[in-house]
Amino acid sequence: MVVHNCDDKPGIGSYQCNSCGNVIDIIDPNSALEPCPSCFSCIWNTIKPIDKNMI
Ligand SMILES: [Zn+2]
Repeated sequence: MVVHNCDDKPGIGSYQCNSCGNVIDIIDPNSALEPCPSCFSCIWNTIKPIDKNMI
């Protein structure tokens, strides 16, 4: 499993907070990950890999 931290720009996909399980979606490839809105953790697990065909 790929892990990302805050300020990473992992690209389009879904990411799950490592601490509380909150899921966020990144829909802009230029968006950076922010701290989890629920628990402020900065560790995100990739749950849906980037589909390079979408870009
Ligand atoms: Zn969290």
